Amino acid sequence: MEAGLKRDQERKRTIDIIDLTRRLEDSMAVFSGHPPVSITRHLTAGKDGRNVEKISMGGHTGTHVDVPYHFIDKGFSSENISLPSICGAVVLVNIAFKDGKPITVKDIQGKKEKIKTLKKLVVHAHWQQTGQSYYKDYPTLSVDACEWLCDLNIEMLGMDTPSPGPFGQKGDEIHKRLLRENIYIIEGLTNLDRIKEDTFLLVCLPLSIKAMGGVPCRAIAITSI
Ligand SMILES: [Zn+2]
Repeated sequence: MEAGLKRDQERKRTIDIIDLTRRLEDSMAVFSGHPPVSITRHLTAGKDGRNVEKISMGGHTGTHVDVPYHFIDKGFSSENISLPSICGAVVLVNIAFKDGKPITVKDIQGKKEKIKTLKKLVVHAHWQQTGQSYYKDYPTLSVDACEWLCDLNIEMLGMDTPSPGPFGQKGDEIHKRLLRENIYIIEGLTNLDRIKEDTFLLVCLPLSIKAMGGVPCRAIAITSI
């Protein structure tokens, strides 16, 4: 291991963090129709005295936050994201692997009181596919489960899948329903299996970019300080 990295990893820690973010890398798989991810060298240390990279990708790449403007022209966009709505104590809802079947009210109603109190939930659907398979046949919310969450007046829904709805028009309707209620959607979370409690402290920080319908973020769970 490189000495500087080793020294960093041996530093004394005063906080336990679980990183819930998918790593961005050149040519990684993306949703059908979204821009490809390109991370290339713009300047090189050998020739230019420094390494500087150039990134090109869509707003809905990797772990990211969807805001109303994604589907609603008059909805608010990324610069208006309210961090207290996507950070704080959240309910973790563990769902047994659904194998293509939608997530129903029955799967989540056991946490109703906690969801009503905290207004933020993260659904752990145990979706572990990688590459292009990540975007195919992932577990999605049923229309009833989506309505049920809207009726509870939630502020934020996080998921370990690429979208709360299936690819295509049905999924668009689920998105629109949530975004019309100004519910933030965090898509593409990972490492949820490492969270042992059924509520946890989430810190989700989308990049501060103007006029976007979805913004890549770093999302972490703070498990002790
Ligand atoms: Zn999105």
